[in-house]
Amino acid sequence: MEDVPLKKKFVTIRFYEELNFFLPLSRQKTSFQAELYTGQTVKDLIESLGIPHTEVDLVLVDGRSVDFSYQPSADDNISVYPVFETFDISGLTLLRAEPLRNPAFVLDVHLGTLARYIRLLGFSAVYRRDWGDADLASYAEENKLILLSRDRGLLKRKNVSHGMFIYHTDPREQIKEVCRRLDLYSSIDPFSRCLKCGGKLYTLEYESDDFKEIRDQIPEGVLSWCREYKQCGTCGRIYWEGSHMKVLHGIIESVFEGAS
Ligand SMILES: [Zn+2]
Repeated sequence: MEDVPLKKKFVTIRFYEELNFFLPLSRQKTSFQAELYTGQTVKDLIESLGIPHTEVDLVLVDGRSVDFSYQPSADDNISVYPVFETFDISGLTLLRAEPLRNPAFVLDVHLGTLARYIRLLGFSAVYRRDWGDADLASYAEENKLILLSRDRGLLKRKNVSHGMFIYHTDPREQIKEVCRRLDLYSSIDPFSRCLKCGGKLYTLEYESDDFKEIRDQIPEGVLSWCREYKQCGTCGRIYWEGSHMKVLHGIIESVFEGAS
C-alpha cells in the first residue's frame, strides 16, 4: 500500500508591537504563513514560532478574541498582541484571568542589578544567584510573583503564568522598561526596602536605644553630621543619606522621566 502524503495546513499569522523582537527579520511586522500541526493549540503555535506565552495578552482569530486553548483551523487569520497597559482593549478577552498588576517579582540570575533597582523603588524582588530555571519557575508560581528574565526558554515553561521578557541589557533601561510596561508609577515608594535583601526598612530614631546598639557600625565621619538612619528589618543593614545616594536619586528621576 502506498503512503498518501498528508496535506500540510497553514494559518496566516501576524505579531504586533514588541513581539516582533522574537521573530526573524522576514517575519517582523508582516503577516506570514505558519504550518499548523494536528492538535496544536494557538499557544503551542505561538511558542513554536519563538514567542514566550507570557508576552502575549490578546489573540484575535478573524477579529474574535480566543484563549490559549483554541485550536486553529486551516486558513485562520491570527493576530497576536503583547501585554500592554496603555491601550484601551476593553470588551476583548485577555488571556489571563488575573491581571499582571501585583507588583512583586522574582528575577533570573542575570538580572541582579535590576533586582536592586526594583527594591530601590520599593517593590519586592527575590533574587538568588544559585537558582536554576526550575527553581525560578516554581517559586514564581507558588508565590504568585512576576518572573523577569531575558531567557525565553524559561518564560515558555508551562507553570510560568506571570512573566515578562526584559528587552534591554542596560539595567537603567531595564528598570524604566518594567515601570512603563506594568504602569507601576503610582505604587513607587523609594528607599523603603533594603537593596541587598529586599526587606522592609525602618526608621532608626537618632540616639534611641536601638540606635545606640548599632552606633559602632556607623563611620565617625557620618555620625558627625547625619541624624537620619534606616535599618533593614530582615538583614539589619543600616542606611543613611551618603554620597552614593546621588546615583540612586538619579535612577529614580530617570524612571519618572521615562513615564512620559
Ligand atoms: Zn536587608
